[in-house]
Amino acid sequence: MSNPEVELYSDTKTRPSKAMLEAMMIAEVGDEQANEDPTTIALQQKVADLLGKEAALFVPSGTMCNQIALAVHCQPGDEIIADKTAHIINFEAGGPAVIARAMIKPLDGVRGQFTLEQAQAALRAGFRHAPDSKLIAVEQTANLGGGSIWPLEILESLRILANENKLVTHMDGARLLNAVVASGISARDYAATVDTVWIDLSKGLGCPIGGVIAGSKEFIAQAWPWKQRLGGSMRQSGILAAAGIYALDHHVDRLAIDHANARLLATRLAHIPGVQIDPLTVETNILIIDVTEASLSAPEISERLLEKGVRMGAMGPDGMRAVTHLDVDEAGVIRAAEAFADICG
Ligand SMILES: *Cc1c(COP(=O)(O)O)cnc(C)c1O
Repeated sequence: MSNPEVELYSDTKTRPSKAMLEAMMIAEVGDEQANEDPTTIALQQKVADLLGKEAALFVPSGTMCNQIALAVHCQPGDEIIADKTAHIINFEAGGPAVIARAMIKPLDGVRGQFTLEQAQAALRAGFRHAPDSKLIAVEQTANLGGGSIWPLEILESLRILANENKLVTHMDGARLLNAVVASGISARDYAATVDTVWIDLSKGLGCPIGGVIAGSKEFIAQAWPWKQRLGGSMRQSGILAAAGIYALDHHVDRLAIDHANARLLATRLAHIPGVQIDPLTVETNILIIDVTEASLSAPEISERLLEKGVRMGAMGPDGMRAVTHLDVDEAGVIRAAEAFADICG
């Protein structure tokens, strides 16, 4: 089934709306590789302003944003400090080992977040047998942490630790704007705690493609050759950038609806026998559901849900993930919860 009626597998499954497509159709375009695409330049300026950084760069994916940042910041053999659930460790096909050729020290955090003390303890002593600690990476929101929001104070304390030890800080902000809408803390305030940060256009913002990475002018100048090297330079990318501008104008505030739907789904699922989820831990649009005690395994539940027109991913035998987004409404999540109850009740 390619298009289930209720799609909760991921917020990447969103499709461009008619209004977004119209914005794309009338975009002014040029050759992006030559920095001549006016719509791409406008998107980059808009994201730089949103994040309070000097400059920004449009690239085809969030993964490429991460890989470019790590490659710019790290020398081969350097060490990156990240939570064990980080996207850069688990879902980028070993990219840090291949491209930046850096090591990663995975920390055993809770819900995708490590503490200042854990980061401090992970720092290398700086003698010649050890790799150099170079970068602290955080994910806002933490994807496998169930969309949890890193508190601003912790991010600030990590920045101080990094400064004191001459480390760089990087934020995988795939869902930073979910954190912004849920917490009321500005994107600028979160972004001020890191040297480099990016947002994904193709998740909850509903665009077909793209990520935008921001940092100092010097960082962006160094990011350009990496983008070229990785094959990320484009031509008339204004068609895609127009979707990004449209999304930033129309799809940010509405993320609150996705968060309310996620909370509603969690509240409904929590009543089903054998299903464990604390609705209070659902801070944004991602639910991690524990079905250890349910009558069926996660893959079985996933399959049965699909037969009922609802898609949720299984994460191993005992976990499931559901993600709300702009193509699922309140009636959709209620339907998903009812299907889940029919299967497991
Ligand atoms: C999706 C995601 C990425 C990668 O973004 P793509 O645009 O899919 O390449 C990176 N980090 C996190 C936390 C993500 O959820």
